[in-house]
Amino acid sequence: MAIKRLLIANRGEIALRIHRAAREMGIETVAVHSTADADAMHVRLADHAVCIGPPAAKDSYLNIAAIISAAEITHADAIHPGYGFLSENAKFAEIVEAHGITWVGPKPEHIRTMGDKVEAKRTAGRLGLPLVPGSDGAIDDPVEAAKIAEAIGYPVIIKAASGGGGRGMKVCNGPDELESLMQQAGSEAKAAFGDATVYLEKYLGNPRHIEFQVFGDGNGNAIHLGERDCSLQRRHQKVLEEAPSPVISAQERDRMGGIVAKAMADMGYRGAGTIEFLWEGGEFYFIEMNTRLQVEHPVTEAITGIDLVREQIRIADGRPLSVTQDEIVFSGHAIECRINAEDPFTFAPSPGLVTAYHAAGGMHVRVDSGLYAGYRIPPYYDSMIAKLIVYGRTREGCIMRLKRALQEMVIEGVKTSIPLHQRLLDDAVFLNGDYSIKYLEQWLADSAAE
Ligand code: ADP
Repeated sequence: MAIKRLLIANRGEIALRIHRAAREMGIETVAVHSTADADAMHVRLADHAVCIGPPAAKDSYLNIAAIISAAEITHADAIHPGYGFLSENAKFAEIVEAHGITWVGPKPEHIRTMGDKVEAKRTAGRLGLPLVPGSDGAIDDPVEAAKIAEAIGYPVIIKAASGGGGRGMKVCNGPDELESLMQQAGSEAKAAFGDATVYLEKYLGNPRHIEFQVFGDGNGNAIHLGERDCSLQRRHQKVLEEAPSPVISAQERDRMGGIVAKAMADMGYRGAGTIEFLWEGGEFYFIEMNTRLQVEHPVTEAITGIDLVREQIRIADGRPLSVTQDEIVFSGHAIECRINAEDPFTFAPSPGLVTAYHAAGGMHVRVDSGLYAGYRIPPYYDSMIAKLIVYGRTREGCIMRLKRALQEMVIEGVKTSIPLHQRLLDDAVFLNGDYSIKYLEQWLADSAAE
């Protein structure tokens, strides 16, 4: 192993997750943190820690110069970006590599291509992935747009090329509103992302969100680790994820997984990636690729037994994939609940002092969290404070174990989304597995009305 000291350019549960994988590989860790995170668990556990700035992310976790300086003064020879923050910043990846530091991530050019949604869609099409019907690239002429919309059929969705996090999208139901919605979408995209480019897609009425985990070695070899179903979303934010998807057969997994793995091999992709699809009427439609580790990666780890962070570090270190496609066995079922510090009914953030904490345990129960009693959840960052990941041999068994585990979790002093998960796990539609990405918001609206 050439990597000896890994700097973790992130915070919270994912910083801890990366620290754990590194330690198990005999690699020392360097935590970087804002002044608001001086008492964070990943800072306490890391071998070295460097404060890189004040609380605001733009001055600390997004501060490239401060992070590179921290790597230099601690002699870190690799950087893992986690998810969010700088993880999909091609410029940062290039700077890291230019300093002779190993970047635990994809090739910068692939991060750049997939970060532009128009370019990503074009690339995916070229690689043989099924696309949502729509404009061939960016579109700004309303007459041309109207022709395309007519051909694919209304409703259509207008999306910002630089959009992200579910923002910069407008659904258009008919020709009379197309031009004004395109203008609106363009100016909103300009304001939010500094780029007015938009494109057009068919709007799918009731799709599921199904994504495939892939890994490439950067030299033309790639594998897939099956799918995750992330259809339970609120405002395009995932709430609960599972693997395998309740609607995908083993044959379909092999077929579609084979297509995505081949696409990644042809691209020469390096490291971990996720190919996101909408799935409707038995068909997959590519929407985007994330060139990083995902929040929900542990459900894949649970059903494959493969440590995805370890795999990322190995590949960055120039080693081959640790498994071949034939060696990967999918077994059982796993579900992850994202536990947020927020009101379970109004979703208002609830930062503050955690007065008591007890993590669930027992067979096949995993809690990824930096929480401890006496920890103060800072108000500056994402509200996710823990992930509860439970495995069972069957979906039913997994759900029973998850209910038991949720009941054991104790987080006092702040409000959390645990009660929301508990109600959801009793819902008949969730139990039968037959729901689309629209379901959770509808269910929340219905339960609020009751
Ligand atoms: P972002 O990068 O902002 O996350 P995505 O392209 O991944 O954007 O889309 C986010 C979400 O928007 C999807 O998970 C889905 O809920 C919805 N969405 C995107 N494209 C379509 C479409 N063509 N039809 C219906 N819903 C869509």
